[in-house]
Amino acid sequence: MVSELIAGKRNTSPLPILRADGQQLMVETRAVMGYWNGEPAIFGVSQDISQRLLAEERQRLATSVFDNAHEGIMITDAQGIIIEINTTFSELTGYSREEAVGHTADLLKSGHHDSDFYKAMWATIGSVGYWRGEVWNRKKSGEIFVELLTISSVRNPNDEITHFVAIFSDITQIKQHQQRLEHLAHFDALTQLPNRILLADRLQLAMAQTERDQKMLAVCYLDLDGFKPVNDVYGHSAGDHMLIEVAQRLRQCVRAGDTVSRLGGDEFVLLFAGIDDVHECDHAVSRVLAALATAFAIGGESINISASIGITLYPTDGSDADTLLRHADQAMYTAKQAGRNRFHLFDPESDRRARARRDEISRIRQGLAEREFVLHYQPKVNMREGRVFGAEALIRWQHPEQGLLAPNQFLPAIDGSEMDILVGEWVLEEALTQLEKWQEQGLKMVVSVNISGTHLQSPSFVENLGKLLVAHPLIAPHCLELEILETAALSDMAMAADIFVACRRLGVSFALDDFGTGYSSLTYFRRLPADTLKIDQSFVRDMLDDPDDLAIVEGVIGLTKAFGRKVIAEGVETAEHGMVLLQLGCDLAQGYGIAHPMPGADIPAWTRNFVPDKLWGSIAAFKWAREDLPMLVAEIDHARWVRSLEAYLADSTDKLGAPVQNQHNCRFGRWYYGPSSQRYAGLESYINIESTHTRIHELGKELIELKKAGDHILLATRLRELHKTSEALTEHIQMIQAEVLLSTQMQRH
Ligand code: C2E
Ligand code: MG
Ligand code: MG
Repeated sequence: MVSELIAGKRNTSPLPILRADGQQLMVETRAVMGYWNGEPAIFGVSQDISQRLLAEERQRLATSVFDNAHEGIMITDAQGIIIEINTTFSELTGYSREEAVGHTADLLKSGHHDSDFYKAMWATIGSVGYWRGEVWNRKKSGEIFVELLTISSVRNPNDEITHFVAIFSDITQIKQHQQRLEHLAHFDALTQLPNRILLADRLQLAMAQTERDQKMLAVCYLDLDGFKPVNDVYGHSAGDHMLIEVAQRLRQCVRAGDTVSRLGGDEFVLLFAGIDDVHECDHAVSRVLAALATAFAIGGESINISASIGITLYPTDGSDADTLLRHADQAMYTAKQAGRNRFHLFDPESDRRARARRDEISRIRQGLAEREFVLHYQPKVNMREGRVFGAEALIRWQHPEQGLLAPNQFLPAIDGSEMDILVGEWVLEEALTQLEKWQEQGLKMVVSVNISGTHLQSPSFVENLGKLLVAHPLIAPHCLELEILETAALSDMAMAADIFVACRRLGVSFALDDFGTGYSSLTYFRRLPADTLKIDQSFVRDMLDDPDDLAIVEGVIGLTKAFGRKVIAEGVETAEHGMVLLQLGCDLAQGYGIAHPMPGADIPAWTRNFVPDKLWGSIAAFKWAREDLPMLVAEIDHARWVRSLEAYLADSTDKLGAPVQNQHNCRFGRWYYGPSSQRYAGLESYINIESTHTRIHELGKELIELKKAGDHILLATRLRELHKTSEALTEHIQMIQAEVLLSTQMQRH
């Protein structure tokens, strides 16, 4: 060893020594020539090299990490010129050390990112010292790859950037996998069209865009017509092929930026954005229908198919995305119901109405459950016999907030619905229960129940009616009469007639309600075996004023006589109406002039106390000729004229008008001076009428003037005179009547 030192060689293997304080050092000893006490001598100089050895170890480690790392590493100088790369860099990019060193990192640029991307990246490095993110780069082979890259700056003690270190790993495969997953999650596997999830995204975006552009967005729900048979007849694989082909045709119908998506099955949704008006939307959808109209060649077969499309337009329909889809679906359903192979535009207003109707129906359902409905009964009388023979059940809703509601305030809402039938069944049950109660009190009645067209034509109407009668064994079936509105939409007349026959077999009778108001009154009359016709109240009410209505009433009565049916008049508001009806041959009547509808509990007492109007008894005792009716009516007309004058005189608000003043033009005058009174021209009392009638009109004019002048005292005097003269006039008419009756009797004998 000494000889090695003498040769000036360094001691290559540092020696560990132990210092007196116990610390272990690595020392290196060198031989140095010198003099010792004037003599040449060789000294051993030992140096502590522990630090250096440590640094060398670190360096070695760093180099090994650099070379063995699975990440590509690139070191550039401050100007971005590559000064070192590792082997993985070469493996990943295909560039050798020689090819890379001396170039900038632009070597790898793929053109995928724009300059803003790099600007932002360098700005981040400048401010925080590093950047991390995904970068699309290009290999030497030209292949694009995605790297997860971290770039860090290296600074010297003066804080100046000396180097940049870029470390990256290739995440292309992870990326691809991710994309595949995303595709699976967002696209339909069969047609490769966006699925429901992606559609939801696209719809949100399209709605936002539509708002910015102030345009319209058409959301179209498409359902193929008759697709199931294709699956059933040609097999599922043919069905799949057809869906793929449909998807292709749909794609060709839309512009870039529009969306075609498949929700599943044979249901697709199309989004047409940037629409200016409804017509543009019409065109777009017509194009779609036309595209599907050409036959599909599938498995050697030529198959025809069509589609039904529902459309809603945003923002006309200002709903949220989910609701827009629901509305389009609803409209599609309407298109299907209207006969398929067509489109239907959703109407927000009619939807609002439909929703209100649904709410109303559910409120009525609740009302029924909570027993809020009641039946009132309106008596029906035989005027000739002065007898109450029945009552019509009329539904009312005792609404907790709105009070007692009439049927026209709630029945229209349930017309044609399931609820219509449920309410109808309740009414039948309730009416029969009431009838039992009346019977227990010794009251014999026929109860009439109004039955809606929907209820009558429901599949188990006859069966349920039979069961109901069995459940009420004390009630004779002939005590139940069903009133069917003549305007009820009886869609199938033959079926309705069968139901009538089946119910009559049970012993129940029928009436055609509101007869004369429908378009096909006579068809109903001829085809439906109803026992009774109910003359509609509008004709009855106006028959004293309107000769046409009188003629209709007379015609209907004649019809029933000719065909051996019964007839009843509804809307009999005064005793005079009843009198004329009696004269025309209609003995049965119902109306406010007899009784208003009342609770069932009031019917027995009312019936006991019923007294027929005197007018009916006296008049009904005689048989008048049809030609004498105008004279009977003229008497009523005169009495009305007097009443309306009295009302005018008493009216302090000046709202009422005075009756006709010209004696030729009042209704009585028109009869008197008209042709129908000429048959009485030879009678003395007829001649006497004229001066009396003239005097009445003179008094009428004077009274009107007195009212204007405010002379109440004279007015009262003249009014008394008017009453007297009016009585005289009535006497004249009654004398005519007596003379007519006398001559008829004489003729008989
Ligand atoms: P409707 O069957 O023709 O019943 C006669 C309607 O005329 C009743 O009105 C009655 O109160 C009213 N009325 C009776 N006499 C007169 C009168 O002298 N003058 C006037 N102006 N009106 C008179 P309501 O109770 O409001 O019933 C209206 C309609 O509602 C009924 O007409 C019937 O078609 C229907 N309806 C009532 N109850 C039921 C029910 O339980 N089921 C069904 N399906 N319909 C019902
Ligand atoms: Mg009725
Ligand atoms: Mg009616």
